[in-house]
Amino acid sequence: MLAIEERFVDVALASDGRFGPDPQAIYDRWDEFRDWARQAELPSGESVPHNELGPPVPRPRQVFAVALNYPEHAAEGGFTAPEEPLIFTKFPACLTGPVAEVKLPTPCVDFEVELVCVIGRRGDQVRESDAWDHIAGLTVGQDLSARDVQLRGPAPQYSLGKSFAGFGPTGPWVVTLDEPGVTAELELESILDGERMQHDTTASMIFSVPVLIAYISAICPVLPGDLIFTGTPSGVGFKRDPPRYLRPGDVLVSRIAGIGEITQRLTGGPAAGSE
Ligand code: ZN
Repeated sequence: MLAIEERFVDVALASDGRFGPDPQAIYDRWDEFRDWARQAELPSGESVPHNELGPPVPRPRQVFAVALNYPEHAAEGGFTAPEEPLIFTKFPACLTGPVAEVKLPTPCVDFEVELVCVIGRRGDQVRESDAWDHIAGLTVGQDLSARDVQLRGPAPQYSLGKSFAGFGPTGPWVVTLDEPGVTAELELESILDGERMQHDTTASMIFSVPVLIAYISAICPVLPGDLIFTGTPSGVGFKRDPPRYLRPGDVLVSRIAGIGEITQRLTGGPAAGSE
């Protein structure tokens, strides 16, 4: 579906079948789709409750994520700023839509609001100056993280600890770069049960989006429909004193100005502090 000012248009119907109903397939034909959407005579669309929306990119071939990409977040973890990007993956089965319940699998699940880039054009060894040309748009993501699983071994298990079911909520839509609210300095925040826990702007990133794309694509190509979780600002739960992990009944709102917001309600699972 195509969202125009909160009204949703069924792309398969509006394009008379030229584009199918699977959002993932759109990214393989992104330039063609964007050109069509710009000139098509579109119906006015309908409103759709956000809890009925799936992830705007349901089955990416690759999901890249970045650790320690905000200086204050690196500092709260006791690290100096890294000299090159630290990349891991969230396995794609963890992706969900913008409004979803997440069952807590351990007592140590933490929150990380992140700007997520969606790739719209394949890139090998992309130059920083060309990087934005490879991006279809931006969305909001939560990099939910079970710190106990992530950190319990002799070497960290970033990818598994951040890939439990429901640990990759994204959405509510992919915002194209020509939208007026999209700038190089996007304000992002996470709000837990009404209290703001994280707040910064994307201008604080140690490695900017172009640097990340150049770095990643020097090693493996970025493919249409891939996601890049670009890192989280300071204020996460596990470095607070005492730690503030997610609890059953919590409501977690993650918001990026100019992009949108996603809401997760946490359920089940063991309570913090119990075995
Ligand atoms: Zn993260």
